[in-house]
Amino acid sequence: MDIERLRKAFRDVFQTEPVLVKSPGRINIIGEHTDYNEGFVMPAAINKAIYVAVSKREDDEIHLYSESYQASYQSSVAAIEISDLGWANYVLGVADQIVKRGYKIAGFNLYLDGNVPLGAGLSSSAALECATAFAIDYLNDLQISQMDLALISQKAEHVFAGVNCGIMDQFASVFGKKDHAVLLDCRSMEYEYIPLKLDGYKFVLLNTNVKHSLADSAYNKRRLQCEQGVAWIKMHHPEVNSLRDADLKILKDYVEPKDTEVYQKCKFVVEEIARIQQAAAALKQGNLVALGELMLATHEGLSKEYEVSCKELDFLVNYVKNLDYVLGARMMGGGFGGCTINIVKDEEIDSLIATVSTLYSKEFGLTLDTYIVETANGSELIA
Ligand code: ADP
Ligand code: MG
Repeated sequence: MDIERLRKAFRDVFQTEPVLVKSPGRINIIGEHTDYNEGFVMPAAINKAIYVAVSKREDDEIHLYSESYQASYQSSVAAIEISDLGWANYVLGVADQIVKRGYKIAGFNLYLDGNVPLGAGLSSSAALECATAFAIDYLNDLQISQMDLALISQKAEHVFAGVNCGIMDQFASVFGKKDHAVLLDCRSMEYEYIPLKLDGYKFVLLNTNVKHSLADSAYNKRRLQCEQGVAWIKMHHPEVNSLRDADLKILKDYVEPKDTEVYQKCKFVVEEIARIQQAAAALKQGNLVALGELMLATHEGLSKEYEVSCKELDFLVNYVKNLDYVLGARMMGGGFGGCTINIVKDEEIDSLIATVSTLYSKEFGLTLDTYIVETANGSELIA
């Protein structure tokens, strides 16, 4: 991103000097469908980010401009409401949450640009929310804690975008750290930085460019199946409050006899929570081979047991999984589309991308988008 160009673009539109905030998108190394079971996730912020240039206004008006959409939007602090412009909603939703928490804020100008691919599952929406939250906090000297800025951003996504997301995306965008993943306990919100250096390898994301309509209904069904499993366990073990507290023996004893499908779904979650711990241990030892194997096991589970993959994702993982220069691969995100995440040896990346893109187009008649990403720091003010 050309920071000086952004600064100048802001000045051209708003005739004043801006402050800049940068908030990254994220990848999730391992840990899918574990957040709502009070388990762990292990995201990392990436070197693709949303940038907002902002200045405080003398009045109470909100003036927004999006470079990507070449569009502007105006409102005021006193009359924030959900707009028809999707991109403006993420900004307005955050302002709304901050006001709702009782903070007094001035009007502001905001110019928005970024290079997180939209809708690819790298959380451009969370990055935009977090950038806005940091900006409003700074402009008004509110001194809101970073954790609260993440929570405010999450709530904005619930209320103004209508997406009932967990905390992972906003958390990663705020707390990410270069050369690290963040192991987040979704129950206690405690977190630990795990060293993540891919010497000689990189994360390569392959974007299927599909989003199957099954996603929402399947997500809701899985959540209910997990809750059902816990309810059956609870009849015998009242201390079990979520699948986080369960183990395979308990599932075999109290869930499998009731319903084999619910058992299969719960088993995936319990195993996935264990895999995250194993992945953190592997990374602490610098063992990328072990990490890669765990990622493949996660994909296998998501595809065959939890049943949230799709033929496009499976095709991509199946193609790379036996290549000796790809250490690990799996679908990333809730499922039914989005990207796969792969750990690929540097020298082989270009030829892999060329080959797999051709094969993917031939198989599905779709374009494969590809991104090579590195870990990065979380949200920050740029002087
Ligand atoms: P994801 O978060 O996976 O990228 P979402 O659908 O949740 O996908 O969020 C994408 C939306 O976020 C876009 O449709 C747009 O409204 C907003 N957005 C993201 N990046 C930008 C950007 N650079 N400029 C304007 N709006 C953006
Ligand atoms: Mg999003």
